[in-house]
Amino acid sequence: MLTRRATFRLYPTAAQEQQLFEWRRLHGYLYNAALTDRRDMYQRWDISVDYFGQQNCLPQFKQNWPEFKALGSHTLQATLKRVDLAFQGFFKGLRGHPRFKSIRHYSGWTYPCKAGWKALTDGEHGQLQLSNLGSIKMRGEVRSWEEPTTCTIVYRHGQWYASITVKCTPVRECGTGAIGLDLGCKDAVTFSTGKKISKPEFIAAGDVALKQASKALRRKRGPNRKQGVKPSKRWVKAQRHKSKLQRKVTRQRQDWLHQITSDIVSRNSLIVGEQLNVRDMTRKARKGKRKRQKAGLNRSILSVGFATIGQMLSYKAAEAGGFYLESPTRKLKPTQRCALCWELTPKSLSDRVHVCSNAMCQHTADRDVNAAQVNLKWARGQELSSLYVESASATDCEGTALGGSADLKQVPRSMKQLAARKRAKSQAEQDGNPVLLEAG
Ligand SMILES: [Zn+2]
Repeated sequence: MLTRRATFRLYPTAAQEQQLFEWRRLHGYLYNAALTDRRDMYQRWDISVDYFGQQNCLPQFKQNWPEFKALGSHTLQATLKRVDLAFQGFFKGLRGHPRFKSIRHYSGWTYPCKAGWKALTDGEHGQLQLSNLGSIKMRGEVRSWEEPTTCTIVYRHGQWYASITVKCTPVRECGTGAIGLDLGCKDAVTFSTGKKISKPEFIAAGDVALKQASKALRRKRGPNRKQGVKPSKRWVKAQRHKSKLQRKVTRQRQDWLHQITSDIVSRNSLIVGEQLNVRDMTRKARKGKRKRQKAGLNRSILSVGFATIGQMLSYKAAEAGGFYLESPTRKLKPTQRCALCWELTPKSLSDRVHVCSNAMCQHTADRDVNAAQVNLKWARGQELSSLYVESASATDCEGTALGGSADLKQVPRSMKQLAARKRAKSQAEQDGNPVLLEAG
């Protein structure tokens, strides 16, 4: 069983929407209140408040503020958990100190278990029932629908969504071929067979439209908080237009990525890409002439969505029962290596053709096709047993993998993992073998 997320658009009636706004406001208040509690207790009394401390305060809190009773205790706990996660990230040094959230932009709330909501659907449209609210019309479609587990209500860009996690066993058809890939900026994907998929046109078209929209926005009076200037209505309108265009390109890209990755998986059972550290690749140039050039390259790398292609191929191949491997780019150097004789030929970014420097070989091929072939050849050279290990670990990561001993060491991230950890701990104590857990 894997965990997949399905998002449905909600169509509440006017009365329901008012209620949803009210609940979102209350959750925002609770988030900020929990933040204040932690901060003040620490600053004034040097006391660290943890999640359980706050959770135990909830019944008393609801006595004082009865309007929170309608929300359901689990959703309130989930909101406190959001505060806890924000602080854990801060303590680990991953992000800054958690900040107060504006009520106007607060995203929503979560039903962390099956209580308080029910999705009446078989995976295509339907109704979402929330307790104390009634049923809301819901539209959307998912590939596999079995056992819904959690539900998050999200308000974004004036629209309501239900983001539901589903436990399911996704089924996908898998081909028999083996293929190597090379990702690039001009041709987005090059296959070892010589086929190329060029960068989609909507990206360039979207850039033009976005440029126009940004220019229109610049010419209007924007907000200036320091001087207390409010944005003009025209600016707000132009801003909305720009953000709409950005979202459109994002959707188009997502759709395109799904199409190409599904197509690749449906034809092949062994897919080989390369390890790309997109964050390092798109690092800003510090200064100098190359700054603009590098910014353009970065945009071009990000616009294709390199990182997403790898992720999608990985989970889709796992669903289909195939393998997706990534060659170690640094060690292997697929662009420089010859697919025939394995010799290295240094190249710059502008050399589009691979001509092998080995006098005996002199293999000549398109640079990207050669790289894709090198990737494929590398994967074939790997032992089959290591493939199985790779694939097993890949499927583990897909689900929210509970109960594995490695997970117990990590800080629990969701309500469910928290519960699983508690269960595992008590189980271990019953068995009288708590050491085992630590050792894993
Ligand atoms: Zn060669």
